[in-house]
Amino acid sequence: MSRIAFIGLGHMGGPMAANLLKAGHEVHVFDLVPAAVDAAVALGAHAQASAADAVRGADAVISMLPASRHVEALYLGDDGLLARIAPGALAIDCSTIAPASAQKVAAAAAARGVAMIDAPVSGGTAGAAAGTLTFIVGGDAAALERARPWLEAMGRNVFHMGGNGAGQVAKLCNNMALGVIMAATGEALALGAAHGLDPAALSKMMAVSTGRSWATEVCNPWPGVLENAPASRGYSGGFGNDLMLKDLGLAAEAAMSAGSPIPLGELARNLYALNGRAGRGGLDFSSVIQLLARQESAG
Ligand code: NAD
Repeated sequence: MSRIAFIGLGHMGGPMAANLLKAGHEVHVFDLVPAAVDAAVALGAHAQASAADAVRGADAVISMLPASRHVEALYLGDDGLLARIAPGALAIDCSTIAPASAQKVAAAAAARGVAMIDAPVSGGTAGAAAGTLTFIVGGDAAALERARPWLEAMGRNVFHMGGNGAGQVAKLCNNMALGVIMAATGEALALGAAHGLDPAALSKMMAVSTGRSWATEVCNPWPGVLENAPASRGYSGGFGNDLMLKDLGLAAEAAMSAGSPIPLGELARNLYALNGRAGRGGLDFSSVIQLLARQESAG
């Protein structure tokens, strides 16, 4: 059993902390939202009044926060956690943030004798609840091996992509491809429907042809084609349009810093921005099809 500090108990962090408790670890939690802390305490976690209190005596510190600025504010500076975490403890940031930000925090951690890995996740809230997340890790291999038992309590797959920041780069590459493919699939289904095709029949054909993808087979954007897809329940649940927009923004920053062209990623980013502006920011990202299909036909 290990003593773990868990900071950030939102949609993802809450169920991830619950799985660490289920695996028998002693989990000390902090979130700015008291109700999130209460929910974890009901499952056996120890509430702490601050992140600094939570990390006292911890073998590992796990953070699951919204964005780069939250992670930097948590760890860096004179009042930051890196000044409080015991040297020898391991810090694991599971938030999706800019690769450059992950590298900055990890370098500051190393300067204080704290090993740190970036371990953003794929699998969404369902994967967090089921303990089947994929961890996409950047950092030292020895640090990852120390983290592995804790990661395996929360997920099923662990991929080591390289040094600090590499986990974030890989996560952004995956999500950029996903964002492009979803928009392209929506466009194809809308074109077929505009010519009178049945989107379900078109999807069934594509799912065994070269246009197949997760967007045709699992998260089909056309309402009613797949019973369990967000599109069939008013685009509720799933992966929010604005989270996809955030990840595509990070991909655009990463592309600029490397001088790497991402014409389709940039186009997709603008489509999800327009979709959010149309009032669908909180809906599943597959609702981007509504920009492309005739209103009366999709949704
Ligand atoms: P969320 O907004 O539900 O949760 C974030 C939590 O962090 C909130 O409870 C907030 O109160 C807390 N928080 C913020 N600043 C804090 C601080 N200084 N100290 C303590 N708590 C603080 O977000 P989420 O959906 O859980 O996502 C978390 C991260 O995981 C994001 O980076 C997101 O991009 C990524 N992610 C989300 C999903 C998803 O499907 N939701 C999937 C994969 C990755």
